[in-house]
Amino acid sequence: MFEPSAQIESVLAAVVQNPIASTGLRAMTERESEFPNPLQAKLTGIALDPYGRDIADQALDAYWSDEPRQTDTLSSSSIAREVIIGSGFHAAVYAATRVLSGYPKPLVLERNERVGGTFAMTARPTFFLNSRNRAGAAGLAGDQGAALNFLPGGLIQAANVSMVEYQPNTDMAFVIRVALAQFADVLTNANVLAVSRDGSGAQIEIADRSPLFAGRIIDARGVGDPADQNIANGTTILTFPQFMQRMARLWPLRGMRRVAVVGGGDAGKCAVESFLGIAPQPPMAAAALDSVDRIDWYAEDLPTTCERWQQTIRGRYQGIGRYLKPGRLLTVVNRRAFPIALPGAVLIDGRSYDLVVLCTGNRETTMPGLDQGAFDDYETADENVVASQHYSLPAFRVGPHARLPFTDQEAATGIAAIPENAVAMFRTATKTAALAATLPAVY
Ligand SMILES: Cc1cc2nc3c(=O)[nH]c(=O)nc-3n(C[C@H](O)[C@H](O)[C@H](O)COP(=O)(O)OP(=O)(O)OC[C@H]3O[C@@H](n4cnc5c(N)ncnc54)[C@H](O)[C@@H]3O)c2cc1C
Repeated sequence: MFEPSAQIESVLAAVVQNPIASTGLRAMTERESEFPNPLQAKLTGIALDPYGRDIADQALDAYWSDEPRQTDTLSSSSIAREVIIGSGFHAAVYAATRVLSGYPKPLVLERNERVGGTFAMTARPTFFLNSRNRAGAAGLAGDQGAALNFLPGGLIQAANVSMVEYQPNTDMAFVIRVALAQFADVLTNANVLAVSRDGSGAQIEIADRSPLFAGRIIDARGVGDPADQNIANGTTILTFPQFMQRMARLWPLRGMRRVAVVGGGDAGKCAVESFLGIAPQPPMAAAALDSVDRIDWYAEDLPTTCERWQQTIRGRYQGIGRYLKPGRLLTVVNRRAFPIALPGAVLIDGRSYDLVVLCTGNRETTMPGLDQGAFDDYETADENVVASQHYSLPAFRVGPHARLPFTDQEAATGIAAIPENAVAMFRTATKTAALAATLPAVY
């Protein structure tokens, strides 16, 4: 058993000194013997208590945003250090496995203010995951004994922090953030712009900061940025992350009557759930005040009737199908739409909308030095492709950012039949962990 990091100690202290927020922590100490260690019992108690979790989240943010600490972290960084770009799930998997394998803590660079990646795009719950909440260890989707939302090496797992079948995004975010607090140093507002060779290591250009040297780079930039973000105007036309941020604010649907969603993937489905009122409850929203009258969903490949929906769409999203019955508020339109912003409204094919959400996928933002074309598949000794490796720099891409092809085993088990599984945690978590466990020391 390892010692809690200074940051985890500060989280525990912040919760303990607040009598209301520490109720869950104190309750869970009664069941300490059921956990692998007392720290996991404490963190589970904190996560299960909304007040405890809120105080813990605030303590994490305060620590990460502390300027003197950021300056210290940068000045104490050495050329031998491993640097991870991005602070999402895969950064946490790599850092946890690396430290537990006996190597130093990596340094994580995150361009945003908030640490935790996609699942932490909002501090309040705004969307439900599509992978089931199950207890157990890491494994693939068809393995009923496996936990799908499992973070190898994590201090706690998603299955510790709620027991709903499909968890809100913030459950997974908390697990990721706690792991990073234990196993990494994190710099926020650190937008990496470019990478170049420097001796046997690399030099990293960061916006508004001095360049940083690294012995190895782990590029964990996730699925990329919204494909149509240049069309979004931030008010009446929103990208999926912008819409989720709106759903986390007060009265997010106030005054919205006719709305549209463009794109039928998982993000589109989550956006439609928000409009239907079957996503996590937005703050201070009430059906009497905040219901929309009409939702048009522009998606080329989705069923347009309730019956077809029930036959073809996977279990997680069955709730949406009920709203496709004649006379109900949702209509699927089988074509791609191109919204035009008017003053105060948006036009699609001559119809006007109060709000349009673009869920048309993601694309990679080009970064000089780390272009996709400069990477090739990287295998561990067991001949499994777990990451991609740069031809000339000491750099690896991990997680969805590595764009790893489906394996024969994934095709045989049906995992490859669902395209969204390409980026699923259960598919890539163990690959990133295998990379972290097997790479040699930097020097
Ligand atoms: C709506 C939605 C629902 C999902 N639901 C599920 C689910 O239920 N189950 C599942 O398994 N998967 C799900 N996924 C996929 C899952 O989110 C990803 O597989 C996972 O988050 C990838 O983790 P990551 O660490 O690779 O990237 P991310 O979590 O995306 O983190 C990447 C980080 O890199 C940062 N970054 C990017 N560029 C730079 C830069 N230049 N400098 C510094 N930082 C940078 C970003 O700000 C971000 O914080 C879902 C995805 C979405 C969008």
